[in-house]
Amino acid sequence: MAMAMDVRPPSVDVLARSIADVPLPHPMLVEAARDAIAAGDPASARSRAERRARGLLRPVVNATGVLLHTNLGRAPVGHHQAPAAWNLELDLESGSRGSRRSHAAALVALAAGAEDALVVNNGAGALLLALSVVAGGRPVVVSRGELVEIGGGFRVPEVCALSGAPMVEVGTTNRTRLADYEAAVSAAAGATATEGAGAILKVHPSNFRVQGFTQSVPVEQLADLGPPVVADLGSGLLDERAPWLDGPPPPWLAGEPAARQTLAAGAALVTFSGDKLLGGPQAGVIAGRADLVAACARHPLARALRPGGLVLAALQETMLAYLRRDGRAIPFWRMATASESELERRAEAVAAAVTGAGARAAAVRCLAVAGGGSVPGLGIPSAGVAVDGDLRAALRRHEPPVIARMEGGRTLCDLRSVDPAMDPVLAEALAAALGGRLEGGPSRALAEGRGR
Ligand SMILES: *Cc1c(COP(=O)(O)O)cnc(C)c1O
Repeated sequence: MAMAMDVRPPSVDVLARSIADVPLPHPMLVEAARDAIAAGDPASARSRAERRARGLLRPVVNATGVLLHTNLGRAPVGHHQAPAAWNLELDLESGSRGSRRSHAAALVALAAGAEDALVVNNGAGALLLALSVVAGGRPVVVSRGELVEIGGGFRVPEVCALSGAPMVEVGTTNRTRLADYEAAVSAAAGATATEGAGAILKVHPSNFRVQGFTQSVPVEQLADLGPPVVADLGSGLLDERAPWLDGPPPPWLAGEPAARQTLAAGAALVTFSGDKLLGGPQAGVIAGRADLVAACARHPLARALRPGGLVLAALQETMLAYLRRDGRAIPFWRMATASESELERRAEAVAAAVTGAGARAAAVRCLAVAGGGSVPGLGIPSAGVAVDGDLRAALRRHEPPVIARMEGGRTLCDLRSVDPAMDPVLAEALAAALGGRLEGGPSRALAEGRGR
């Protein structure tokens, strides 16, 4: 029987070996080869493998101007660990079993003015655990104005349901009064202490603003009603006075609820994320009354939600910086408080370096935002480099990838979210995307640009 031997596709193995110079482990090359053959396009094996390599987790330059960009890992954290054992749950004094709460969590409690704190994997986990424990299946009273969706499937009513607590909605979308809460708490009251409302939940509507005919009830007044108040702050601002900054708190921070003041106002527990305004690694914090935090730590969910030593060590570093009042040691606060004149100087230097490479770029003023579902609607004055056309795809292909945004039909690289050490990379990426080349490398071009 005659067979068209010459049109048979190459074997997966031969094809995988032919692209062995792509720096990926063999099974990943095999996968690319198999996909290419299955698609009837064996020649695409190499580009498939290269795409796969580029898709692996890697550092990128965040030039979006969104300081806490959820798709870019929110707060930038730098943390390095030698392979070592850690005293994660060992008391070095006594040699007996210690607590996972004695380092990072204890520092969070100290910095937030809380009796105690517990660290879990993220803010959603913190609220789920806090409600599970505090309400214990009894009704949770919450304003209809605070039944929010944070994004990525985090919806307050669903988290409530998951915790086993029936939700009692009070008020309306725009207005909720103290009397609404009072009525709900009395209606839920039963004959014994194990009945009645389990908690009052206060959620910071962190990613939108309701304006106009609005009313809500501050934690101070809710705290007098009886049931413990759980306040989901979201952003993790520790103290509204921001004592870790050299100057006064920046204006865009106004109105953002802070852990210390919310606890002082009478909240039994606050919950927040580690990687928003706190500026640490992805984590969730439950802070407040010692008995409730201890109960959270004993709950089986705490085990399911507990972070590892990598996260706790990175968070400990962040918290030590807060306690030293050294905001400059926290990358997020460095970005957030960089002066406009410094950003303008950097933008001019980058634009000059790109222009020197034969391309056209302009330093412009722009507005950055905190992002990450915190401080909605308030821009932070910033500066950036603008170039004509949409270069975002070309910038993403650069090594390392640069993530920019479009504004007024131009590609804008906002410098407030860029580490100054990355300015030469940004200049090089822009010059390359525009078809230019930086003479003597990006650092020299930048240095010359600065000297102009
Ligand atoms: C961001 C946010 C959450 C969720 O926190 P994650 O760390 O993303 O899980 C919950 N509540 C509020 C109010 C938030 O802003």
